[in-house]
Amino acid sequence: MCSLHPDHPSFYANAFLHAPIGIAIASVHGEWAKVNRALCNMLGYDEDELSSLDYRTIARREDLLIADQLVQDMLEGGSTSCSLEVRYWHKSGRTVWISQHMSLIRDEIGNPQCFYIHFTDMTRQRQSNQLYSVITEHSLDIISFNSPEGVCLYISPAVRYLLGYYPEELVGKQHLDYVHPEDKAYLMGRTYSDTDKITYRYRHADGHYVWFETTMKFIRDAQGKVETTLAIGRDISERIKTEQALENSRRNLAEAQKIASIGSWEWDLLTNDVVWSEELMRICDIEPEVFCGKFEKLITYIHPDDLDMVLHNIKRAREGQPYNLECRILTSTSTDKYVHIQGIVIYDSHNKPYKMHGTVQDITERYKMQQLLEETIDRYTSLKKYNPDGIISLDKQGYIVSANPAAQTISGYSAQELVQLHFTDLLHPDDMIRALAWYEQFLQGEMTEREDLSIKHKDGRFINLLITPAPIIIRQQIVGCYIVVKDITDQKKTDELLRQSEKLSVVGQLAAGVAHEIRNPLTALKGFVKLMMYSEHSFPRYLAIMKEELERIELIVSELLMLSKPQTTNLRCMNLKEVLEEVQALIGTQAIMKNIDIQLDAEGDLFPVYCDPNQIKQVFINFIKNGIEAMNQEGVIRIHLSDDSECFTRVQIIDEGCGIPEDKLPRLGEPFFTTKEGGTGLGLMISQKIIEHHGGTMSIYSQLNVGTTVEVCFPTSDIQLEERRAVRA
Ligand code: ADP
Ligand code: MG
Repeated sequence: MCSLHPDHPSFYANAFLHAPIGIAIASVHGEWAKVNRALCNMLGYDEDELSSLDYRTIARREDLLIADQLVQDMLEGGSTSCSLEVRYWHKSGRTVWISQHMSLIRDEIGNPQCFYIHFTDMTRQRQSNQLYSVITEHSLDIISFNSPEGVCLYISPAVRYLLGYYPEELVGKQHLDYVHPEDKAYLMGRTYSDTDKITYRYRHADGHYVWFETTMKFIRDAQGKVETTLAIGRDISERIKTEQALENSRRNLAEAQKIASIGSWEWDLLTNDVVWSEELMRICDIEPEVFCGKFEKLITYIHPDDLDMVLHNIKRAREGQPYNLECRILTSTSTDKYVHIQGIVIYDSHNKPYKMHGTVQDITERYKMQQLLEETIDRYTSLKKYNPDGIISLDKQGYIVSANPAAQTISGYSAQELVQLHFTDLLHPDDMIRALAWYEQFLQGEMTEREDLSIKHKDGRFINLLITPAPIIIRQQIVGCYIVVKDITDQKKTDELLRQSEKLSVVGQLAAGVAHEIRNPLTALKGFVKLMMYSEHSFPRYLAIMKEELERIELIVSELLMLSKPQTTNLRCMNLKEVLEEVQALIGTQAIMKNIDIQLDAEGDLFPVYCDPNQIKQVFINFIKNGIEAMNQEGVIRIHLSDDSECFTRVQIIDEGCGIPEDKLPRLGEPFFTTKEGGTGLGLMISQKIIEHHGGTMSIYSQLNVGTTVEVCFPTSDIQLEERRAVRA
């Protein structure tokens, strides 16, 4: 161990050399004669360089002026030491701030000998001071130091710009006096931690309030007592405004989503975090408190049957396909909801998807409506497709718009062929005018009955249809018509057969009368022939009678034949009076057997009626026969023919028979209702049908034990109409 004694000659030299502060010994003129290591380090030169250098070359000129002044002062005996700060150029070129203390050393007689100077590097301190002032002087935030009671000790110049005060106006003032009354109570009531952040409104010099956010720090002394508070405040009016605007638009968005039933979502593909809007939670019946924003959880709300489809769509969306689908979601209630999901994928700069966002719309109502609509269409289609009756629709002009399969079967035409036709193209020529008038009436909204019409099948035969119209009303306007078409050809045939069988039974019954009637003239003829056989003379008188009797036989037989032959409807214009005369002749024989006189009285000669004479004859034979059968003794049956009005022709069959009890009246015309042994109970029914077919009406009036009147009215034939028909035919 080696230690140096103060008496050792190198002791002071060593201490000088290794002292931790910079030291220099300078001449009385100020030139450094000896420098130590610490000073060399401060300035970046080695000892030799520095000793040989004139320090003036490495000091700032303006600082040297002061230094020279002080040196001069000391030499002149003004002071023995001084302190000053000098900026030197470090060898590397940077500035070094040095605090320099100089003492003048004199010899025994007091002459100046040299200067002792020590140096302290102040660069770091200067820099932080400078930095500090730059911050406080130039900060856009307001920096202030305050007493623990909140009195302003210092406040930075930014206060002028942000709050309109000069700093000196606020120094010494209590800050709370400037805070908005509503916020003051809050600030005074809260507790503070050592570093804290508060938001409040501060009064501007011109009176309005400015939103501030201030970070506060308590600065404590060694005992932990708060010495001062440092506060850095910034104007957040803009931020508050933006936040409020943001909040407004967020609220508006939520409102809009609610009205439109559209929720929105955002899915971070990297973390699988999902954010939902409030509306989306509402759609899915999820309370915001229990909402878990993880994809794995949210996917469980999708209906299991739709899950694969949804996942497949997500995969495709990540590959660049549009994300757009409809699916069911499970809700806490028992009913599923239908939603429409749309979304887009966001890519990063490496073209990797990192986010998806989009919307979810509740389409349950729309979906249900759509299903209902589809169901209705299905029902409607089934009704048309499988209906055994034909259904065609017509537009207002009467053109066929659609036809169901049954209509195609009935008509023989395909739907394509039918839709090019006007409905009258199919009609039997005889029905044309009636059908047009009927359709016209229907379009005017008048109640129209079902109608019997004949149409021509594609194969040429005529078929009988019963048609029932139904208006097509769209927005309270008749735009066309559905017509339900029933093929009644078979039914008509049955009716015809029925009529025929009734007729045959009438014929059978008539036969007895006929036989009687024929036997009489035959007996007469036989007598005459016998007489003539034995005489050589001719007997013109007998021959005339014979001819008359033969003609009568011929008439009766031919009428009988005509009646018994099955006839198809053969409408033409007839004089009803002539028809009734023939009836009278035909039935006369039977009446005579019972001593009943059939009288025909007509109020005129011409009674044109559009009819099938055979059927009409059958009708009146029925009525007269009933009359005869109702009369037990001789009497009269009157056939009265008259005009009922301009349009109707009336026939009354008035008998003097037993009459019909009142309780039986409603049953007349019922098939097989008869009070007679061997009666068919079909006569009235068939007569009624025939009359209806001719557009006529039938009524029966009866008085017990006095007689019965059957009244029939037919539309009087319009001659003009007949002429038109003739032209068309
Ligand atoms: P049928 O003559 O075969 O009995 P109809 O249909 O012709 O069948 O008549 C039905 C019934 O109506 C008759 O059985 C009879 O009771 C009653 N009737 C019809 N016309 C008359 C009439 N002129 N006078 C009394 N009764 C009548
Ligand atoms: Mg009868």
